[in-house]
Amino acid sequence: MTVQSRCATTPGAQTLPGSALSLGGADRQAPTVNPFSLVDLQARKVEYLRVSVTDRCNYRCTYCMPAEGAQLVPRPELLDFDEIAALVRVFVSLGVRKVRLTGGEPLVRRDIVRLVERLAAIPGIDDLSMTTNGHLLAELAAPLRAAGLQRLNISIDTLDAAKFARVTRQGSLDAVLRGLDAAQAAGFAHTKLNAVALRGLNDDELTDLCAFAADRQVILRFIEYMPIGVDQFWSPDTYLPVAEIRARIAADWDIAPVERSDLPGGGPARHWIGCSRSAPGRTVQLGFIAAVSEKFCRMCNRVRLSSTGTLRECLSAAGTLSLRDMLRAGADEPALRAAIGDALHGKVDAHRFDGAVRTWEPMSAIGG
Ligand code: SAM
Ligand code: SF4
Repeated sequence: MTVQSRCATTPGAQTLPGSALSLGGADRQAPTVNPFSLVDLQARKVEYLRVSVTDRCNYRCTYCMPAEGAQLVPRPELLDFDEIAALVRVFVSLGVRKVRLTGGEPLVRRDIVRLVERLAAIPGIDDLSMTTNGHLLAELAAPLRAAGLQRLNISIDTLDAAKFARVTRQGSLDAVLRGLDAAQAAGFAHTKLNAVALRGLNDDELTDLCAFAADRQVILRFIEYMPIGVDQFWSPDTYLPVAEIRARIAADWDIAPVERSDLPGGGPARHWIGCSRSAPGRTVQLGFIAAVSEKFCRMCNRVRLSSTGTLRECLSAAGTLSLRDMLRAGADEPALRAAIGDALHGKVDAHRFDGAVRTWEPMSAIGG
């Protein structure tokens, strides 16, 4: 029996919501249309910008930040809202259509709702989203939605409160679940849950996470643990490859890949559908981010802007171009565009994580 025929209801294709520098006030003015968009030497079109709005976080996930003594950048080095809005406009003028706010934890950035409002006003952004640990969402989901945020990814690695507290060190599963409730009540659709798969933490509850996502009507994405950041946890013993994640899920769910050309921007996640064996008709939409085991780099459509304004062309490459310094030195938009274009030519063909190579900067600083 095929997966499709086993499912009493198979979800149909969803449609996701899919030049002068403006420093304050002029966000609604359309960025100058650029005749050339950002295409790198591998002919990958860059349409997706991830903006880290802070390196601070209210959690200390074991795979991301050290328990104590996190090296945080002095506040004046962080981009301010005028600078973030100005740089986002430059990227939009270069063809970026999707912007995701991340961190650190974006919701701990003071006045984050105001930043969302400013970015939402920039013409040309089709998809404005955020990745969050969800801890502060209960109070912020509705204002964020009203400010123009379109989509949310919420990180939940485990549904066991004690394990959740252990992996996040200072997190509360209850607060995050209330945040998810608030997000759904506020009208966020196509919400995704991000779960880093970790042997010894959640490898025994991957099917439970599927059931939870099916019940809550959210898309569940399993992320392979990447050798990035603090070195307390990553080892081949804790890393769970996507092939094994799928095999474990397949114990309870029939799963199969689906074409999702409707998703904005494509990108590296592989889309699958799962149909419960024990509860016919119960389906879950799944994504697998095989960052280590199946290099997704051919599909890469993104660049990252760090909280200090450094352009990072690839997760595994140290960024060298400080757009903040250029901006603070008075660079105009053509100069910024030219520098970004040059940097993109240096975008590596594929990341270099293979267990031997790692990135020491934590994901919280890079903007995962
Ligand atoms: N604080 C927010 C959150 O946790 O959702 C946003 C920033 S966090 C760096 C973005 C995503 O990166 C989270 O889903 C987190 O689980 C993931 N992440 C962090 N470190 C990782 C690692 N070493 N390997 C894989 N994913 C990681
Ligand atoms: Fe904070 Fe997100 Fe890193 Fe966890 S994964 S420590 S919530 S930035």
